[in-house]
Formats: sequence, C-alpha cells, structure tokens
Amino acid sequence: MTETPLKLFNSLTRQIETFTPVHPGEARVYSCGPTVYNYPHIGNMRAYVFADILGRTLSWKGYDLTHIINITDVGHLTDDGDAGEDKMEKMAAQKSQSIWDIAKHYTEAYWEDVRALNIRQPAKWSVATDYIDEMIDFAQGIADKHCYELGSGLYFDVSTVDDYGKLARAVTEEGEGRIETVEGKRNSADFAIWRKTPAGETRQMEWDSPWGKGAPGWHLECSVMGGKLLGFPFDIHTGGIDHREIHHPNEIAQNQAHCCTGGLGEAENSGARIWMHNNFLVERSGKMSKSSGEFLRLQLLIDKGYHPLAYRMMCLQAHYRSELEFSWEGLGAALTRLKRMVMAVERLKEDLAGDADHPKFAPMREKFAAAMADDLNTPIALVALEEALAVKKVDNGVKHAVVEEMDRVLGLDLFDLTREDLRIRPQSAEIEEEEIEAEILRRKDAKVQKDYATSDAIRASLAAKGVEVMDGDPLGWEWKLD
Ligand code: AMP
Ligand code: ZN
Repeated sequence: MTETPLKLFNSLTRQIETFTPVHPGEARVYSCGPTVYNYPHIGNMRAYVFADILGRTLSWKGYDLTHIINITDVGHLTDDGDAGEDKMEKMAAQKSQSIWDIAKHYTEAYWEDVRALNIRQPAKWSVATDYIDEMIDFAQGIADKHCYELGSGLYFDVSTVDDYGKLARAVTEEGEGRIETVEGKRNSADFAIWRKTPAGETRQMEWDSPWGKGAPGWHLECSVMGGKLLGFPFDIHTGGIDHREIHHPNEIAQNQAHCCTGGLGEAENSGARIWMHNNFLVERSGKMSKSSGEFLRLQLLIDKGYHPLAYRMMCLQAHYRSELEFSWEGLGAALTRLKRMVMAVERLKEDLAGDADHPKFAPMREKFAAAMADDLNTPIALVALEEALAVKKVDNGVKHAVVEEMDRVLGLDLFDLTREDLRIRPQSAEIEEEEIEAEILRRKDAKVQKDYATSDAIRASLAAKGVEVMDGDPLGWEWKLD
C-alpha cells in the first residue's frame, strides 16, 4: 500500500499543509481542555472526539505521540473581556462550595464522558493550578517588554508583537468585536495575564505574585503548560473554533513574546506549527451553552437509552471542520449505523486476525488511508470501513484484521460492543429488561407450539408496558422501548 502523507488544515495559514514533525518520528499535541465549573455538554465533547481522532491518526501513522489536555480550574472568565468573573469562583459562590470540590467533581464527570466516548487517555492531564509558579515566571519574563500594570492586573500590550490576531483574521489593535471593558488599556485587544484580587476582597483561589495577590489569566495557562510540557515550538495545538477568535490569538501573542519573537509568517513563531479547530455542534433550541440552564449532557443521551458511542458515530459522520446539527433523529440514525457494523463484526470475532494485506481489501484500505490523511475525513473513512465489512467470500481472519486496523483509528470499539449493548434503554422505562427478555422467550415458545392466542396476548401485554415487539426486524432488534 502506498503511504499517504498526512495533510491537515492549519487555521493559522488557512491552508491544508503536509504534517512534518518538529522532532522526527514524534508528534506533540496540546488540546485546550475543559473549564471544570460545570458538566461538559456534548458540544464540548465533540472537541475531544476530534482531538482523539487526530491523536489516533498520528499514532496509526507511526508517530510517537505525546498528547496533553489541560484542565482549566482557574482563570476562565464569564466573558471574553477582562471585566467578567472567574467561572469557577462564580459557581463556587452559587453553590456555597469550595472551588477545589467543584473542580474535582466536574473533572471526574468530564473523565467519565471521555471514557464513555472511547477517547484515549492523553499522556497527561495538566491541571492549571499545578503550574502557578511557572505562570508567574513566564509573566515576569515578558513583563518588561510586553506588559503594563493597571490597578486590576498585569496587561499584555498586543502592539508589542507582530501580526497580532492573524489567527482570527481580526484587525490589529482594535481586536474585532471586542468591547472595551477595562479603563486604561492601551489597545482594546490587550488582555490580562495576571488579575489582581480587588482591594478588600478575598478570592478562594489567589496566589502571591510580583503584581500582588491574584490569579493568572486563562490564556497564560495554556502558553505555560504547552511550552513546559511539549517545548516550543510543538507540532499541533487544538481547540474549538471559538478559541480561534480570542483565546488562541492571545496565547500566540504570549508565545511570541516568550520564545519565538518575529511575525507569524513563520508558523513556528506562534509556538506551534499547526493550529487546528473543530467546528461547533449546534442545536436549534440553544441547549448547548453551559451557562444557560438546561443543556445537553452525554448523560442525558444515555438516560434516554442511547449508547454513548452512537454520539461518537454521529461526530465522525461529519467532517470536524463542518458545523454539525444535533437532533434525536440524527442520533438514532447514527445508532442504527453503528449497530449494522457491530452485527457485521459479530461474525468475525471467532476468527483470529490474519494478515490485512490482501488484494480484495486493497481498495478499501487505500480509500480509508487517503481519507484519514486528507485532513481527517472520517465521513469517507466510515464508508471505506462499511465497504470492507461488505466484502464477500473472503477469509474472516483477513477481514478481522482489516476492520480492526480501521477501528483502531476510528475508536468505535466494534469488537467489544454487542448488539445488546446498543439497544435503546430509556432509564424511565417501567419494565425491567429481564422481564422483557423472559416474555419474548415465552412468546417464541408459544409460536413454536402454534399457540397464537398466547403469543398475541404477550405482544399486547408488552405493548401496554411500552414495549414494541419487532418481528422480522432486519437489524434483529426484536423489541424496543418507546
Ligand atoms: P470550555 O470548557 O468552555 O473551555 O470548552 C471546552 C472545549 O469545547 C473548547 O475546545 C471549546 O472550544 C469547545 N466547544 C465549546 N462549545 C462547543 C460546541 N458547541 N461544539 C463544539 N465544540 C465546542
Ligand atoms: Zn487553552
């Protein structure tokens, strides 16, 4: 098989580029992680499914991957200006709990979603508050040339670096779409890298610094952890598309000041060679904002009876750079597609994996490899996988090997899932699954005995409890709960 070089869309240049690692044979990736003041919504999780697909593809291509995902437990404000409140402090006050407890609870909830979606563990989850000393050192190192102090904190002067805002394609200095919220700023796009605790107030999270007691700015965290754990420049930095507008341009400005000087004509001066952004998952009624009451969590999908990997499938069906609209119908369709694959794989499980290198599978393997190398085109890769599953009259061991190889990249867990795992099981159902299974069995017996009165009665009694018996269903569901 011909080796297809990996091409990725670089948001910084707005071009597809061939991936060339900074350190031969290695891939070093930093993904902006969650702010743990609340549960993640499924849109947030799309960002990590994307980062996971990137990581799996790099591993599959043979690169020695170091992936870092951070946990933001301080510094992220309620608005993009510098006048908002810290999201963590605000939630802690609302719930009268310690920030540390809140951070622990929501970090664990996030990790649960990570596991449920079969997202691989990164080399490290870096927690922002573990790096406060390094953040202060970093800020001190750039303060003289690039920052100025106001009553409220230490501010970064964006006019001191070349090409500020190139990533966002925003107008320099005026920082498109910004609202001037802090008096005394030199440019409206200037941002706080250290926020002082206002006189007379105490914050739950505050540290001593050369600029007084306070807390680091959100952008500073990622610059510090990325540089410290991966070394500047590293290969790839990821995040959701909202980060392309403010968070990442600010991170880039700090990185330029710290290590790289020079403009962004050289991508490396940004601190990373490639900046990648996933587009949003959207939902018409606006249930995708963590700050606005009810929102869509993975647990809600599970409570309604959907296996979480159906959501992973839904994500993979769209290219990561396209907007994806969530709907329950779409989720149902993704579940059905996953189930078809699982059924096809069931027949392969008994045969040990053989050698994937077989002429019958060459076209699908080529198609799969070309799709993944083409900026992670998972929609096409899924088709290649289905085509491989549909190949007839071949040794199952060979097919096993081909499908396993593809699934290692897509992470749908096809060899461990069973069709029973995928049955829709709403938590609100009034009938236990064992009871349904027992009734279905009793009905089968009745039919064998040609006792149609009993079999009809069982069907009717199940229907009364919300169970639809699905005779002859091509996917073999047998029954479903409404
Ligand atoms: P946050 O916890 O708010 O810092 O966000 C975590 C990640 O989710 C970031 O990479 C965001 O850019 C990303 N994100 C936020 N909303 C969405 C969405 N609706 N769809 C996809 N990604 C999102
Ligand atoms: Zn970040």
